[in-house]
Amino acid sequence: MPYKKPCLDPNSPKQHLSQIISEMGTRDIYSSVSFCSRCGSCQQDCPLYRLDPQETNSPRGRNQALRLILEGKLSEKTNRSLFAKMVEDCTLCGKCTRACAGKIPTAEHMLELQRALHIKRLPFSLQTLLQQHAKHPSLFSCLVRTGLLLRRVGAIRILELMQFTRLPAFAWLRRANKLLPKKIHSLNSLFRKAEIPFTPEKPGCIYLPSLEAVYFLPDLALQTVRLLSKRPPLILTQQASGLFAYVYGDLRQSRYAVYQLIKRHAKEKKGTLPFVTDSIDLYNFLKKAPQLFTAWPRLQQKANRFAQKVVFIADFFPKKPAASSKQLPVLLEKSALFNQEGPAVLSSEKFLLTLFKKNLVQCFYTDAEIPAFGYGFTCHNKAEQLGLQTAQVVARSQAKTVVTLSGLSALEANYVLRRFYPAAKAVHIVQAD
Ligand code: SF4
Ligand code: SF4
Repeated sequence: MPYKKPCLDPNSPKQHLSQIISEMGTRDIYSSVSFCSRCGSCQQDCPLYRLDPQETNSPRGRNQALRLILEGKLSEKTNRSLFAKMVEDCTLCGKCTRACAGKIPTAEHMLELQRALHIKRLPFSLQTLLQQHAKHPSLFSCLVRTGLLLRRVGAIRILELMQFTRLPAFAWLRRANKLLPKKIHSLNSLFRKAEIPFTPEKPGCIYLPSLEAVYFLPDLALQTVRLLSKRPPLILTQQASGLFAYVYGDLRQSRYAVYQLIKRHAKEKKGTLPFVTDSIDLYNFLKKAPQLFTAWPRLQQKANRFAQKVVFIADFFPKKPAASSKQLPVLLEKSALFNQEGPAVLSSEKFLLTLFKKNLVQCFYTDAEIPAFGYGFTCHNKAEQLGLQTAQVVARSQAKTVVTLSGLSALEANYVLRRFYPAAKAVHIVQAD
């Protein structure tokens, strides 16, 4: 493969974030990475460092590597495989940012390095499929539905028997097959049966279902809409969020997708409606939408207005829910992309505490980590080890229900629990009671 010189130039804002917005302010990539004081307070919070305590596995090591590249003291050409491993291994969980006094956004630094070195995290076939989500949402929808139909008639099983899924490019099919529920209903027919319109006459909010809610967990979308019944939602099932392009693809595609969302939001009641999502990952990403547009001030203003309206579904839970009859412990698993704290997590905790009272077991940040979607496709062994740790935490707490804040975390957690601790089951927070 021809060598492409990395470009981390903040003056090339199309391929890179020219400024990264963190809790401590807005900085370009070099300032952001230079603010890492090398104190090491984040080390023990990083799930990867705890698995294999080496400096190259730590948030501090990752930040220093990037700083040295930017200063021209480390050659990206001769150390490419090491950098690629540092990037690929990072689960983007943001636990290091939570532990860091300077709130250094290491996950975002790793994504910048990934873009600069043109690293593709996912197998080519899956990467190509996911890229369509931002570029051609209808084609993506058609491809996924065809894939699900073929799975239903046993095509994946046949491919497995023919050893086709042993080819590295298609090994992800085997994992995806095990990860997804056996029976998947169609979102459209579910909503038709429940007589829920996608476009109500007077929408009270806009709901962007996560990708998993549209294709793999339509019950999750249905329950979310029921929670929103007092403010009938305008449901956007065909619009890409830009999150997958942000993590796995091209920043330009991600920016384009978010721009479409901003326009769509502004079209309804002059952008005053709450913009609801059922995924904490999506929430964290959309809240940071302004950083995609720092090189375009007018667009950034619009993105700022949009980001203020983004809310997680937990804000629509009843304030005084009837106490649950569940007598066994329930464990809250907070895995999220980029950050695991903030108002969305707090309101989720508050709701679950009211619902389950002393039966709720809080999962400490260092206890367990359900890696982001796609991680298991590239870092299979590490995902297995992290999954096993999570199952051990659940088993120690004797919980029978694990509550997650995104549908993908619930899918990943169930995949792990089925194998290591089948007594427990994971559900998304809207399905918790
Ligand atoms: S990322 Fe933060 S906590 Fe970690 S070494 Fe740097 S300054 Fe310290
Ligand atoms: S984002 Fe998560 S995996 Fe990556 S360095 Fe930080 S704590 Fe470690």
